[in-house]
Amino acid sequence: MVMQTALYNSRENMIMKHVKSLFFTILIALLATGSIILMVFLVKGRSGEGSGGYRSPTYFAMDTTLEITIQGRDEKLARQDVEAALQLVRKVESYTSRFKKGSDVWLINEKAGSVPVKVHPETLEIVERSLELSQLTGGAFDITVTPIVELWGFYDQKYRVPTQQEIDTTRALVYYRNVMVDHTSGTVTLARPGVEIDLGGVAKGYATGAVCGLLRNRGVKSGLVNFGGAVGAIGFRSDEKQWAVGIKSPRGDPEDLLGELKVSNAYVSSSGDYERFFIKDGKRYCHIFDPATGRQPTEVMSVTVVGPDSMNADILSTALFVLGPQKGQELLSKFEGYEAVFVDSSGKVESSKGMSKYVVEMKERL
Ligand code: AMP
Ligand code: MG
Repeated sequence: MVMQTALYNSRENMIMKHVKSLFFTILIALLATGSIILMVFLVKGRSGEGSGGYRSPTYFAMDTTLEITIQGRDEKLARQDVEAALQLVRKVESYTSRFKKGSDVWLINEKAGSVPVKVHPETLEIVERSLELSQLTGGAFDITVTPIVELWGFYDQKYRVPTQQEIDTTRALVYYRNVMVDHTSGTVTLARPGVEIDLGGVAKGYATGAVCGLLRNRGVKSGLVNFGGAVGAIGFRSDEKQWAVGIKSPRGDPEDLLGELKVSNAYVSSSGDYERFFIKDGKRYCHIFDPATGRQPTEVMSVTVVGPDSMNADILSTALFVLGPQKGQELLSKFEGYEAVFVDSSGKVESSKGMSKYVVEMKERL
């Protein structure tokens, strides 16, 4: 991403124009394969490497990367644990992908404005929690933001800045109360044609929590699940220390850290404008939208949330990105046990009060 800054500082240079277009081709190809989505990642050499530790290969799932570290366990068992976890993730992915024909989400969108769609319990749980938190976040988190994400070209990678009129027309479809759930029959109905849901802001969090639950049930006492921007820490490391989780800096090289957290039996989730974005006329446009405006929120570059529930942490990191530091902190105070770090648009780092108990190191500004 640093390359980008360099490119945009030397506009007059004709050669750079070609480099720029090449860069975008590469960027789009990378985005298409999801290979630059890493957000929160393990601090190298500290998290996964202890005696008897097994570190899985990097898998690609749900549009991002998945790595699992298991310690204090026979390697053969640990490999089987990872295999079972991977199967679970593939299952969740097959239910929640909006692209996969026949998935729950695909069917819900396909049947918008017509009949209720019977979904798997996993999908129902994700949709129900999303709606609950839409209400609690005053609509900052809204899974019906989909047509807006589409309008800006984030699904087909044909990025564009829409007109205000296009935004207004599309935004009329965005409202979480357009999603109706019947818990008893296990069905989801969208109020009218054109309404669409996307679980991209929550499904990874769900899957991370589900994988941690599965590993615990299989007897894992010490593990770390690193799923793109969502991390789940089971117990302590085999050396009895807390797990170290590096928070990626929203600017600079991909390896640059904003800070380092120590966690055990907790979840960490990050949302940021560096994850997926395009640049037009020197302005960055990212993949997270304020449902109230149909545009990208402008107050922050990234938000990291730590808390006891994986889905909540994932939803909150997206919602706090929309709300910004001030409103975000107010909202956070209503969620017991959750803390956050914001990097505002000027690069200033702001943390909630209780965050200090997790912080090993944290920059004060970028
Ligand atoms: P995350 O990386 O968890 O913050 O999720 C970002 C993804 O969630 C985007 O790629 C969109 O698919 C979706 N999304 C964008 N804005 C919102 C929003 N305000 N509420 C819910 N989902 C959103
Ligand atoms: Mg999220």
